[in-house]
Formats: sequence, C-alpha cells, structure tokens
Amino acid sequence: MSWLSELLLFIFPVNCMVCGKNLTASHEVLCLVCEHEMPRTGYGDSHDNPVSKLFWGRVPVELGTSLFRFEKGSAYQALLHDLKYRGNRKAGLYLGRLLGYELSQTCFVRCDLLVPVPLHRQRLRKRGYNQSEIISRGVSEVTGIPVVTNLLKRSVHGPSQTSMGRYKRFLNVSDNFQLARNPPDVEGKRILLIDDVVTTGATLEACSEVLFRRFRCQVYIATVSCA
Ligand SMILES: [Zn+2]
Repeated sequence: MSWLSELLLFIFPVNCMVCGKNLTASHEVLCLVCEHEMPRTGYGDSHDNPVSKLFWGRVPVELGTSLFRFEKGSAYQALLHDLKYRGNRKAGLYLGRLLGYELSQTCFVRCDLLVPVPLHRQRLRKRGYNQSEIISRGVSEVTGIPVVTNLLKRSVHGPSQTSMGRYKRFLNVSDNFQLARNPPDVEGKRILLIDDVVTTGATLEACSEVLFRRFRCQVYIATVSCA
C-alpha cells in the first residue's frame, strides 16, 4: 500500500462497516475480524444445499449457492442495504469479490458468463446503478468470468416485493423478465445468474425460465445472501 493511501487514511479514516473500528489501508470495507466472523453459509457447490433445493421441482437449475446467511438486523445485512439504497458501490464490489473467492474454489468457476438480475429501466435510472451488476463486477474481478448485461431485461415495474407473500411474489415476478432485444447467443453456455439476496427464489426462477425458453443452456445461481 502506498504512503499516499496511508496518509489519506490518516487524514480521512475509514471505518469497518460492521464494528466501526478504523481500517488500515489494506482493508476497505470490513476489518479482518469482521470479515472472518461473517456468517458464511459454506454451501460451496454441494448439490443439496438449501439454495439449490429452493429450485427443485420448479426449474432445472444446476446449482445454487450463497455467500452468507440472512440474519435480520445483522450488521452484515447492512452492507447489502447500503449497497442497494445508499449507493455504497464499494461495499458491493467487496461482497462480489468475497463471493468470487468462494466460487473460485468450486465448479461455479467453470461458468462462461455472469448475468446480473436486471433492474427495470425506470428503477435503474432512479438509482443510477444495478446492485446485482456491481456484485457481478466484483465476482468477475476474481474469477475472470465476463459480465453480460444485454441478455435479460425486466419489463414490468412492479411494487416492492418485501411486503408480499410467496404466491403473490411469484405472480408479481413471473412475467417481469424477457430476453433483451438482440440478445447474444448463449446456446450451450453455462450461465451464472447473480443477485444480492435470494428468499423465495421467484425472481431467479423467472430469469431462468426466460433463458430456458430460448436456449439450451445450463443455469447456475449465486447470491451474496440467502434467507
Ligand atoms: Zn470490524
């Protein structure tokens, strides 16, 4: 780390987003202790992990996985909240890199492309970025797998899903995704769908169905957090 970044940190200290301690130059978002104590799932690429199982009997996804478990009110969850609602892209890239390191130990690393779950155009304009795309960029930095954003699009600008039940959420999202206009040919490819959180799996199921309708491809799923 250069003397300049050390000096900048001295003048403008950056704090760990979980415990609030001052960070050293080699850590940008979390301190070493908090990174170590993250409630990681350890799912790796096991076939019967809870994220993979979410899709059983619904859509033929090869494998699913997540970096850490959703714990309500947890400071780790705040990282995702900061990314989604407060424009903290640094947190998104950081989480993406952590997910990337995790995936690079598994068969996920053989995927051909990373596809972030798209945001609707209006929401994208309002927010200025797609949090899943930022996470994907972090994953890509570590794994070298390219990010593809011109494959899927989100067509309906539905209400926020957080207050809906499972069935309503499914109805809400099932028609929301389409192939983008002039999508790249992904026939025979291994596609890794990336999202920030998976809860019911309805969003990722809908994206997978759109892909399977057009292409013979394999779909993998990875998210930062899982409920
Ligand atoms: Zn900390």
